[in-house]
Amino acid sequence: MKLYLDFDPCQECNTMMAELSSPEMLFADEKTRADESAKFLRHLTYNHTEVVQAVMDDLPKQKRDQEPDFYK
Ligand SMILES: [Zn+2]
Repeated sequence: MKLYLDFDPCQECNTMMAELSSPEMLFADEKTRADESAKFLRHLTYNHTEVVQAVMDDLPKQKRDQEPDFYK
């Protein structure tokens, strides 16, 4: 996920990212993986608002790219 690129992961992030990419998780069932991902996204939402903000900032940009004529 490109989301991870532009922020400083805290200790909790590092732990969760390590868990998400661990062999155990790769062979875990779909629900377990979904739960872990959701947990990480929730953590990002509450503890790393700059990441969420960066995603939000990106949205209008993508919209502009799709509608070039409107902004000329
Ligand atoms: Zn974190």
